This record gives sequence, C-alpha cells and structure tokens, in this order.
Amino acid sequence: MTFSRPFRSLFLYVLSFATLTSIASAQVKPGRDPNQPIDQEYTDKIREYTTAPYFNSPLTDYLPASPDVPTPKAVLGDVAGAPGKLPYAEDVYKYMRMLERASPRVKVFSIGTTEEGREMIAVAVGSEQLISKLDENRARLTKLADPRSINMDEAEADRLVAASFPVYYITGTIHSTETGSPTALMELAYRLVVDNSPYVKFIRDNVVTLITPVVEVDGRNRMVDVYNWHLAHPNENWPALVYWGKYVAHDNNRDAIGLSLKLTRNVMNTYLSWKPQVLHDLHESVPYLYDNTIGDGPYNAWVDPILTDEWQMIGWNNVSEMTKFGMPGVFAHGNFDTWSPGYLMFIAATHNGISRLYETFGNAGADTVERTLSPSEYQRTWYRQNPPLPKAKWSQRNNNNYQQTALLTSLHYFGANSKLFLKNFYVKSKRSIDKPKNEGPAAYVLPADDARPGNQAELLRTLQAQGVEISRATAAFTVPVRKRSGSAPSSSPATSSSSPRPSASPSPSKTEDRTFPAGTYIVRMDQPYSRIADALLDYQYWAPNDPQQDIYDDTAWTMGELANVEVVRVVDARVLSAPMERVTADVRSPGGITNAGSILLINHNADNALVTFRYRLKDVEMDAAEDPFDAAGRKFNRGSFIIRRGNSDEVRRVANELGIQVYAVNDAPSVKTHPIRAPRIAMMHTWLSTQDEGWYRVGLDQLQVPFTYISTQDVSRDPNLKSKYDVILFAPVGRGSQAIINGLPMYGNPLPWKKTQLTPNLGSIDETDDMRPGLGWSGLQNLQKFVKDGGLFITVDDTAELAINYGFTAGVSASRSQRLRAVGAILRTKTVDAASPVAYGYGDSLAMYCFNGAIYNINNGVGGRGPRNQPRATGRGTPDDPDVPQGRPPAEIPEPPPRVEPWEAPPVVEEQLRNAIGLIPPSQRPRVVLRYADSRELFVSGLLDGGDEIAQRAAIIDVPSGNGHVLLFSTNPFWRGQTKGSYFLVFNAILNWDNLNAGRKLAPK
Ligand SMILES: [Zn+2]
Repeated sequence: MTFSRPFRSLFLYVLSFATLTSIASAQVKPGRDPNQPIDQEYTDKIREYTTAPYFNSPLTDYLPASPDVPTPKAVLGDVAGAPGKLPYAEDVYKYMRMLERASPRVKVFSIGTTEEGREMIAVAVGSEQLISKLDENRARLTKLADPRSINMDEAEADRLVAASFPVYYITGTIHSTETGSPTALMELAYRLVVDNSPYVKFIRDNVVTLITPVVEVDGRNRMVDVYNWHLAHPNENWPALVYWGKYVAHDNNRDAIGLSLKLTRNVMNTYLSWKPQVLHDLHESVPYLYDNTIGDGPYNAWVDPILTDEWQMIGWNNVSEMTKFGMPGVFAHGNFDTWSPGYLMFIAATHNGISRLYETFGNAGADTVERTLSPSEYQRTWYRQNPPLPKAKWSQRNNNNYQQTALLTSLHYFGANSKLFLKNFYVKSKRSIDKPKNEGPAAYVLPADDARPGNQAELLRTLQAQGVEISRATAAFTVPVRKRSGSAPSSSPATSSSSPRPSASPSPSKTEDRTFPAGTYIVRMDQPYSRIADALLDYQYWAPNDPQQDIYDDTAWTMGELANVEVVRVVDARVLSAPMERVTADVRSPGGITNAGSILLINHNADNALVTFRYRLKDVEMDAAEDPFDAAGRKFNRGSFIIRRGNSDEVRRVANELGIQVYAVNDAPSVKTHPIRAPRIAMMHTWLSTQDEGWYRVGLDQLQVPFTYISTQDVSRDPNLKSKYDVILFAPVGRGSQAIINGLPMYGNPLPWKKTQLTPNLGSIDETDDMRPGLGWSGLQNLQKFVKDGGLFITVDDTAELAINYGFTAGVSASRSQRLRAVGAILRTKTVDAASPVAYGYGDSLAMYCFNGAIYNINNGVGGRGPRNQPRATGRGTPDDPDVPQGRPPAEIPEPPPRVEPWEAPPVVEEQLRNAIGLIPPSQRPRVVLRYADSRELFVSGLLDGGDEIAQRAAIIDVPSGNGHVLLFSTNPFWRGQTKGSYFLVFNAILNWDNLNAGRKLAPK
C-alpha cells in the first residue's frame, strides 16, 4: 500500500489519518501468511518457552521459514528468548551481519565505539527498494528536518513527504540488567526480512526500521558474564552488576543533557545523521508492558504539543491492539513524569522527532521463574483495565513476545500513517524555526566578556554536539534584556505561597538595554534544533503543590547556572539582526601567552582547563597567590597561578591547546603565595554501588586528572595510605555510612568480581575475590590515620555523613532535612570565606546541584552545642526587657553573645575556657567555605519547598584534623556531567591540599 496523493494542509492530514488507520486495520490482519512455510522446529520452541498462550500474539507465535536467511538459532543455538541463553554483543552483531550477507533487505552500520573500545552498530531493515534508496531518502528527510533548506515551502514539503519513507529507530538494552531486547531485536530483524504476511510485508515496504540492538555494550557483556557465572554456580548467590559501562550504571539513561558518555554521543550522531522520526528505547522493569512515553505529568515544558499528541496516538493504539490480541498487562499511563530531557529517547523529543519507551517485564537474565506481583502492580486502574496477573511463571521468551509484538504493532501503525508523521516531522521542525516569532525567546546570548571563557566554550561545544548552531557577533550590539536584580540572575519565590512571574515577555519597565561586545556567542532560536537549546539553557520551575508528588528524576538542569557561565535569555527578536556569523568549527576559548617576560601569570577564574594545565605540566613549579593583585594592566583573582621558572614554549603550547590565557611580566607581583603541586589522588569506591562516583571519574578523565582507583577493601588493608596518596576522594555512594563500613552481609558464598575464563569482561576496572566486605573498622582507622598524617579526605553527601558520624570532623554535626524538598534542584550558595583556597576563582555566589542536602551545624567544641540566639524566657515586661526577680535589687545582665548566623559556630564563652577539654583549638576548628543563600535568594531552578530549613546553612566545610583536612560537601559538585561550574571546588582542594589553611583568620581563643 502506498500513498502518493500530495497533501495540502495539516487539516487534510488529520482527516486522511482517520481514514488510513481504519483502512490499514481493516485490510491487513495480523498473522501468518498460510502460503509461506514456517520453521516448525523454531515455532515449536517458541511455544515451549512461552509460559501461557496469552503471553504471545498471532504476530510472534510462529517463525516463517526461509531457504536463504538464517534464523537467530544460527548464533544462539536455540530460539530468541530461550532459557539460559544470553548472547554477548558480538554474537548479536554476528547474527545481524549474517542477515546482511543473506539479504538485500538489511544493511549494518558501525556507529562508533564505547569507552572500552567495543563497537556499536545500527541495523537498517526494509524492502530491497527502501534499502537501496537509503541515501536519497536521507537527503529528503534532511530537507524536511531543516525547512529553511526549502525556504519553508509548504508545497515542496508535501512533495518531499509524498516521496519519503520514515525511519523508526529502536535501541535495546541501555540498561544492562534489562536483558531481553537483544534477542527480541535479532528475531524482529529476521521477521522484517523474511515474513511475507501482509502485516509484516506492509511494514517492510513502508518503514525503514533502524536497530541498535545493544546500546550499553560494555555493560551488556559484563551482564552476560554474571549470568553465565550464575549458570555455572546454580545453587549460589551471584554478584550484583556493580559496574555496567566504564563509568555509570542506570544513569547512562540520564546523559542526554551533558553527553558525557560515548553511547549517548553515538546514538545522538546516528539520530542527527539519519533523521529518524522516532527514537524508541527498550527497557524492562514493569509487568508486562508499560508504554511510558505517555506516562504522567508534568510533561517537559519545551517540547512541541504536536509531539505529546503523537505520544498519545501511537501509545494508545499500541495498548488497544495488544489488548485485542488478548495479552494482559499492557498499559500506557503510569508514574513516569516526562519532565527531564535527560533520557536517551528524549534526543528525539528535543529534536523534532518522537520519543518512545517501553518497560516490559524481565527477569534480569534468561531464567524462567515464578513471579509474584505486588497489589500496586496487578490491581486494575482506570488506565490499566486489563492488568497483569497477580502471579505467573515468566520467561525471557514471554518478554521477547511482548517486545516484538508491541514493536510490530507500532511499526505497522507508523507505516500506515507515515505521511502524517512525516508531515508532522516537517511541521515540528518548522515551528522550531518559527520560535522567535511565536512563543520565543529569540535567542540566548553568552557574552564575550564572561569571566570563564573556557567553561563557556565547553558549554557551547555540548550544544554543538546536540546539533545546535552557534553564531558569533562580529561587532558589538545592544538589545533590551530583562533587568538584572542584584547578584542573583533569577529571582524566585521565597516561599511556596508567592507566585512566580511569567518570564516569556517581560514588560518594558522590567527591561533594560544591554550592550554585548563583539565576539559574543548567540544561540539563535530560529533554527530547527532550537528546542533542545531552549530546554537546556532555560530555567525550570516545578510548583511545590504540583499534583505530581512522586517525582521521577531531577527537576532542574539549567546549563548556564551549573556551568557558572552567564546565559542571557533574549525575547526581543531584534537580537537576530545583530551582525554575526555562524561558528563552523568547535567553539574554543583563545589561549596563549600575551606580552613578554620571564614570569608567567594565569588568572584563576575556575575554568576547568586550569586543572588539566597543572597536571599536564606537573614538573613545572607553580605558586598560587593568596590575595588578588594587579599586573600586566589587569586584575588577577586570589589563587591565580604564578610560574617563576618555566619553559615558556611548553607553557605556550599547552595554554594554546587548552584555551588558557597566560600573561608574561618581568617582575613577580608582591603578593603572598604558596606552591600548588600536582598531588597524588586516589578515588575510593565501594563494592555496593559505583553509579554516582562514576560521574566523578568521567569528569577527572575528561580533564586528564590522573588518579589511582582503590576500593574500601584496599583501604581496610592499608595502614599507610599517606605514603601513596595525598588526596582521597570519596564520592557519594547512596547507601549511607553503615553500609559503607559493613559492606554486604556475609551470609552465603563469596561474590567474586574478577576476570576469569568464564567472566572475561569483569575486573577490568577493579576486581575482588569477594564483593561483600566493606570498609570495616580497620578501614576507618586507616582513613583517620591518613588524615592525621596530613592527607586530604574529600567527602560528599553520605560519605560526608560517614566522616561526620565516625569522628573525623570535630565541631560539625549533620542531620537530614525534615521539610526540605530540593529534588535534583539548583540552589544558590554564597561564599563565606573567599580567602579559602577552596573558593579560589569563584565569585560571591555559585549555583549548585542539590538533592535534599544534609543540614550542617558548626561548633567550636566537641560534643555539644554552644549558645545559639535564644528568645528571652517567660517573665515580666516586653520581649526586649529583662526579667526582674522580685524582692531584690536587679542583677547586672551580662552582654548578650553576638548574633550567630546559621552557618557559624557560636562564639567561645568564658565558661567553656575554665576546663577546656572539649574546646577545639582555633586552628583545628571547622572553616565554612560556602553556605546556602538566604531563603529569598536560595532558589535558582527546579523544585524547592521548605527551603528555609537549609537556607544559610553551611554547604561546604573544610575541617582541619591533625596535619590533614576533611572537606565536606552538602551539595554534589560532580553530577551527570552537568555541574561543570562546581568541579573546581574539588580541584582547588586538590591543588592546594597541603595549604588549605592559607588565608585563614584564627579566632583569638
Ligand atoms: Zn531501564
């Protein structure tokens, strides 16, 4: 069936869409072609491995036979979804390439490699005609994707739509414990190639199905290892998949914002070059099939409403068709809110395509087991009229049946409505270009005089990797922008009762003219991929009283704030007429040496490239200035680098490469300095979870900061850590301090994580004979000795809690918030002690990622709280009067203690000095570097409720201990490759690890 009638308007499409679906479903019955022989042996196995007939459909309860094309059995030795069979990625690829050799209907493309060098592929399947014309079809889709290329000519768009066929991109097993999709996709590819039933042939003739069968290739192979170990040790517990990819686990599906991982980049590049209309990502968690694209609100506020309608159309059709097949437990509404753009599938949503996601039911492996559901899973609800069964035997084959049936149903529906969806693809692209004329804004502007050109360039490169076009002003220009209010770029509700102002079009009284210098970067919104730039650069507001109280993920990701880079949202369309040119290469900040002289100076601006610079030139002596100074006709911040004896050619080369501006002078500035070295760093991990620390390793590796990777078990065995390391970085674990010490329970058998013949993919990152033991008391002792010996121990969130609870940090106590809801929000912090090396290069305020951070209390004594600001006791007089005991002359009231801020320790009083056992010596007292801002200024982006509980509390504390230091973070400085503006707080601590007391003012007593 083909549709060549040129359509004139969207209205006509809607009409024809209704007609087409009814034709398609009336004429083409799903099910086998009786004239095509089936592979009886394979078909018998499908039946055998499917645990009940209703867990299969007429689309997948047989396998058509082919004399030339091998079935998945050729590689698996059994059918797809067979018990005990989990193929490695290479086996899946081997099969896809066998298909390619056997049929002109298949083409396999290599789309890049993983961090560990494994290949990723995309397999295109369609009729011979479609596959032979992939390139010319791509050329048409490219025009539809960029309506500027056809001058927004509607008639031309219709001609292109009529001539084009859509590309439906399916991605499998990004989540390594969700194991079913590779075999389902192998068999799906076979069916699409071989099956002559009218239903499948229709798909083949009308849609190019593009398949990446394994997204997380490194993690897949580790998962297969673990499963094979389990098969070889049938009566034992098996090791949890503690590593998936090289860096992160489940969060690999939160990388579509920061693009830190190769798998995201590879899928992004495939998406950008193929211009598919759908990106459909396969997951397994919920019985039996949850199409969670429809999910629940709040929906992402930056996508086109046309898209959200498409979600509903395809999703509900999917539910309806599978319900008709008699398959229980298929539904489309549920607890997934579609707010964050961080999911892999969202690459399509933010680039004018359609994002889709299935959660099917998997057993984390290929065992067939009895599964008992919880009432919330099997109860009938308004959106799940045919719920899953409370109890059922479940197999990987069942899962494969559901995945394939759902995909075939969707592909058929998509093919039957291909002209509608292709036209929608064009219309969404066009509306993205029309953004400045409609909803706005017109552009985002990144000023040329930003204090952090390196971080600015890095942010812009991330946008470029998203396919966003960047322009650069060739001359200064002036446009009205929203008035800046004080230091905080955005004002916002201090309490949940006040309502935020609408931000789309500030009234003229709220704007002011601003002149941006030449060289300013402009992200125009009249481009096809304006939506992703808008979504990433804008602010987020999640109302505390939103009906959605079960928040799925982060509520904020504002990239400029998190990068500590200024981004100005400009509504006035005149900004688009500013003199500018397109940036054709990757954005780079300029670097090199200015002027001449033997002393080299580098301003510390907290650009991340500075840490790379320090480690790249690790043998060059460098000093840090402890105060700001003037030289070479400009101002240098505290912490600026001074190189007195360096090979200037080498410095020039590295500075050039890294985009760092170096100033040469003849005389060193007269300012107090201390050496900054390139210390030995250890990253410590647990065997409980490596997810969150993986984001630290990504950051360190990208910036080429070398570290030794050690586990809590290594630390438990090493009483002399200081001889090997200067800094131990312990990123959040997410399990709490007791679990860090105890590890996993010691019941049962050892759980090895090791490279062996049976498990060749384990152990490459780190290995152990038994994952169960934790840090233990000996590890705690060794860490405390490391600090006393002069080491720096950097801790965040629950690892900070460990340091506090187990006596590393005299004078600091912590509690968990009770009312605060800062759910992956961005909060403002304020600098308390600008002279602390930790704060070098930062201004007086910094936006940081926060997930219900801990509430810190500071004291000058151990074990006890000093006097805080107390209201007066009950008695005579007004609140300001003293009480006066009756019948005696009034006593002299001592001076009240000075007011204590929430981030400060109460001052030492005379009583504490009489026998000062618990009094911490001034040089060993906690030093607060940053605090949370006042309630009024605290909110930056996302959801903040009950903010007064954490407002003004200490956020980052440097605690001296013996000869060393412990650094405590209540916020998380390294998160998902998004928080590049706060990385340098950690780098500052590292580079100044042996001089953290610099600039410290000690209390007299
Ligand atoms: Zn998943």
